[in-house]
Amino acid sequence: MSSIFTKIILGEIPCYKVAEDEHFIAFLDINPNAKGHTLCVPKKEINRIFDMEESHYLELMRFSRKVAKALEKTIPCDRIGISVIGLEVPHVHVHLIPINEMKDMTFQHKVKLSGEEMEALAKSIQESL
Ligand code: AMP
Repeated sequence: MSSIFTKIILGEIPCYKVAEDEHFIAFLDINPNAKGHTLCVPKKEINRIFDMEESHYLELMRFSRKVAKALEKTIPCDRIGISVIGLEVPHVHVHLIPINEMKDMTFQHKVKLSGEEMEALAKSIQESL
């Protein structure tokens, strides 16, 4: 069965899209640790990040860096934290999280944003790419 992220990539379910190219997509995390929490996802469905072909993995990091730079320009924060977990969704994704404190990286402290706020946020990150 396809992962929820493959369904997003195929346009079967919606997302707040931030960036896309031939091989990768970035969209806002639906349950963010902080405003601007973004996921960078390879379109090819792979479970574990270190099972990726080296060149594909390096391209994911290049894509993630580009998105992180746009996040830095858009969201006031100390820096962009990066994490790869995948225990909930077994389809590789890089979490990019605008952080100010360690708790922003714990996945226990969540923020609530309206649909309108998420849409506006995705648009302003897109414009900073
Ligand atoms: P993990 O697999 O542990 O790295 O966590 C999966 C992440 O994906 C969580 O932060 C979820 O909030 C996020 N997530 C799950 N479903 C969606 C979705 N439909 N759109 C955006 N983010 C999602």
